Amino acid sequence: MLNLLIMGKPGAGKGTQSERLLRHYQLTHISTGNIYREEMLKGSPIGIEAAKYISQGELVPDDLTNNIVRDVLANGNFPNGFMLDGYPRTKAQAVALDQMLEEFGMSLTAVINVLVDDSILLERMAGRRVCPSCNATYHIKNHPPKIECTCDACGTKLIQRADDLEESVLNRLRIYNEKTKPLLDYYKRRHQLMVIDGVRSSDDVFNDIVEKLGEKNGHH
Ligand code: AMP
Repeated sequence: MLNLLIMGKPGAGKGTQSERLLRHYQLTHISTGNIYREEMLKGSPIGIEAAKYISQGELVPDDLTNNIVRDVLANGNFPNGFMLDGYPRTKAQAVALDQMLEEFGMSLTAVINVLVDDSILLERMAGRRVCPSCNATYHIKNHPPKIECTCDACGTKLIQRADDLEESVLNRLRIYNEKTKPLLDYYKRRHQLMVIDGVRSSDDVFNDIVEKLGEKNGHH
């Protein structure tokens, strides 16, 4: 049983690594961002409430978010374990999570922090382009498409996501530094924090995480 929590600033590669880890360990994904996006699509009361904050680039209030995670943990079935992604994002959420885990007789195996410097993040995000049709991602310098501004896979014209515009990136980084960064100390004090250098190829980052998790579980 592997219960992971993955953290990282916007653009640190958390999305890529979480996808690979989910597949590798066959974990159940618990992403509050995904849950909110689904609720917004459905137009449910939770979705309507969350949209007020999400559209402003702000965090959804802790109570609402904690209740959602509580429901998932209470009713979920996690044959190989779960991976929390995008939660907790505040100290109050981390405290609430600890209480829930204790109540349900669960615990975190590790808290993975994919670490990347702010200056590198800004450069990564500024160059990121996505295909609006098939969601493939590119970077104008690090991973350019074969034909400029055009998706290799389907030929659609690439776009820059609104989230990746500099003003929005700076706002997300500011919120991260203010609200989420203190959690790193919280987990470090509990000896649960696993810091991973995120300024490497996606393969190197992934292999490092798998190796460190293996050491933690006492097998290589
Ligand atoms: P994400 O896809 O994880 O970046 O989440 C998208 C948006 O949903 C965030 O920018 C927040 O507005 C909201 N959100 C997701 N998870 C949380 C959370 N744990 N606490 C508060 N708001 C959240």
